[in-house]
Amino acid sequence: MDNNEPQDIIESEGRYVVLLVDDQPMVAEAIRRMLADETDIDFHYCADSSEALNQVCEIRPTIILQDLVMPGTDGMALVKIYRENKNTDNIPIIVLSTKEDPRDKSDAFSAGASDYLVKLPDKIELVARIRAHSRSYLAQVQRDQAFKSLREIRVELEQSNEELQRLSCTDGLTGIFNRRYFDDYLQQEWLRASREGVDISLILIDIDFFKPYNDNYGHQAGDDCLQQVAKVIEDTAQRPGDMAARYGGEEFVIVLPNTDVEGVKVIADTLFENIKATKLKHEHSNVSKFITISAGIGTIMPTKKSKPADLIEMADKALYEAKEAGRNRYILS
Ligand code: GH3
Ligand code: MG
Ligand code: MG
Repeated sequence: MDNNEPQDIIESEGRYVVLLVDDQPMVAEAIRRMLADETDIDFHYCADSSEALNQVCEIRPTIILQDLVMPGTDGMALVKIYRENKNTDNIPIIVLSTKEDPRDKSDAFSAGASDYLVKLPDKIELVARIRAHSRSYLAQVQRDQAFKSLREIRVELEQSNEELQRLSCTDGLTGIFNRRYFDDYLQQEWLRASREGVDISLILIDIDFFKPYNDNYGHQAGDDCLQQVAKVIEDTAQRPGDMAARYGGEEFVIVLPNTDVEGVKVIADTLFENIKATKLKHEHSNVSKFITISAGIGTIMPTKKSKPADLIEMADKALYEAKEAGRNRYILS
């Protein structure tokens, strides 16, 4: 019965659902007759106070007509129970009493009643009150539902934005950062290094004889190889601040903020050892039976006159030299 969502009520919009909770069948019969002609009002009746909450949860009335004096749990206690239950706490309640007593009225309103009528009420007045209370209740339910949907949409939007943000930073094939993120990151670290007066290093990496690898093992094997090499490169750039990215094709780059020549050499040695340890077969390389890389390294302490492109150019030249010198090596510019 807890499955009844406010949505169910909205879908039956235009119909008002009355639940009378009263132990006297004669009262029920009288009210049933009063409402019989009202085609937009469904009438339900519960005679047993111990069943009232269950009935309310099941029927989801748009208004409860609640008798005050009942055997078992009395009407006032029931009003409080409805108000404490999250499935029923907003449903309007008209308390039906046998007498016009200001204190009873006051108590009923304090307990959470929305309105008060003396039995038996006038038909026209009863119908008008049922419609008015039900209408504002349905409007409230609709507003709550709209807010809930809005909240859900906002959460979804935030999640998709995060995902988009992640996708815009990562390379689709290897899952490591992409060129775009690298450009932004280098710029940002460049400014930091310039402020702090420290070195920044960059390793530009290119797989050796990758064209023959692709040509002989196929493009899919080439992709697999790129993924494995990317993983090794990413795992090698371990310190916080270190950043590995795919620069393009079979070229990768590592940015090492706050790292001088001695420091970058240590990383480069580790990188070459790690690549060697993968033993990725490459029978069509001229330098090894396994996949090898060449790398060019630049280290700069940024000044007002220099720019990130200078560091990339340094590393690029060194990479070219590494290739010229026979590949499977790194050169420091
Ligand atoms: P070198 O030792 O001088 O670097 O030679 P190379 O063959 O590695 O260099 P080249 O620039 O001639 O070839 C690079 C190859 O990388 C060509 C291209 O097919 C391959 N490649 C680039 N991007 C991808 C990719 O996303 N997937 C695959 N499978 N291959 C790629
Ligand atoms: Mg290349
Ligand atoms: Mg290459």
